[in-house]
Amino acid sequence: MQRFSAPYASLPAQSRGRVFPETEEDFRTPFARDRDRIIHCQAFRRLKHKTQVFVYHEGDHYRTRLTHTIEVAQVARSIARALGLDEDLAEALALAHDLGHTPFGHAGERELDALMRPFGGFDHNAQSLRILTRLERRYAGFDGLNLTWETLEGLVKHNGPLVSREGDPVGRYRERGLPEAIVDYVSGHDLELASFASAEAQVAALSDDIAYNSHDIDDGLRAGLFDLIDLGDVPLVGEALATVLREHPNLEADRIVHETVRRVLSAMIHDVISETQRRAALYGPGSAQQVRDLAVPLVDFSRQMIENNRVLQSFLNEKMYRHARVEDIMVRARRVVRDLFEAYLHDPGLLPVPWRELSREHADDLRARQVCDFIAGMTDRYALTQHKQLFDVDPLFR
Ligand code: MG
Repeated sequence: MQRFSAPYASLPAQSRGRVFPETEEDFRTPFARDRDRIIHCQAFRRLKHKTQVFVYHEGDHYRTRLTHTIEVAQVARSIARALGLDEDLAEALALAHDLGHTPFGHAGERELDALMRPFGGFDHNAQSLRILTRLERRYAGFDGLNLTWETLEGLVKHNGPLVSREGDPVGRYRERGLPEAIVDYVSGHDLELASFASAEAQVAALSDDIAYNSHDIDDGLRAGLFDLIDLGDVPLVGEALATVLREHPNLEADRIVHETVRRVLSAMIHDVISETQRRAALYGPGSAQQVRDLAVPLVDFSRQMIENNRVLQSFLNEKMYRHARVEDIMVRARRVVRDLFEAYLHDPGLLPVPWRELSREHADDLRARQVCDFIAGMTDRYALTQHKQLFDVDPLFR
């Protein structure tokens, strides 16, 4: 395929740079370097033992956050390349998008947020920013990874602006306000929260939707939470399934599933590419900055695909995320998080050494945030091991 660059692509040579100035290299761009730093960070390796829906003991074939992240990066690169965007930036953002997630998926996040309510709450987006700007302590010259402005803004604003032009929080932050970690950070490094992020960041965000919408069909079927026949009425999936059965009448079940899922994945990718091209022709952004300044996202699904995804999401919600088997384990997972939080907050001496710098004499909110950072960084299995050590029971396997 011919490589070309869209007029609205992010240009590495025009990057606004890093907070701590560094000499850039000849052989890779600043965005490629950001991507490489993300791959080498500790939080990235931990994605291997964090789950989104299933807890790790269920089997080796389900997605973990790491394999999910790699699939998101694959989708993001494909779309970025087709649109003539900067593939490295899109890939960096895809690889970083889930770093701030707690153990045990959304159940863990909800529990940690509830426990942290009196101390400013917990938000995975803000946590990703904390990890990349503070909590990774491996470089001599700075805390965090010292990523470029474009990577940090894309990470924080991947779902669109965080505040209105007047500065009022919007979307998921409308009611509770912006997380403290984001407010603190942007007071020293303005990520321009009122505008959209780059097209590359928008691609990474949609790639996340595309990846989990399609691979959750696969994981849900494998787990026996629903059957192929249940998918017959789900738009897009039902059509893909019918095509596979028509073209390959004697195929075994595993191949039918994969053939169906890959058609769904591919249809979503093509949809984003053509809808984005339509919008680019309509709005004519001539630079990455003009993408930020648009009143709507440049990268999106078509109206039809948004509707398809809505139906698929409600199917997965009902059949998978709220399935009794999944919910049951999530209730127990929340207990693990709650027990750990209360134990560490009550007795900071239980924390491992690098995390023990604050004692009971420090302010409650500082200590709570420290405990929260420690727990949020845990993998599922580390949280279970710690819980077993502290309480000598294993609530998931009793
Ligand atoms: Mg994700």
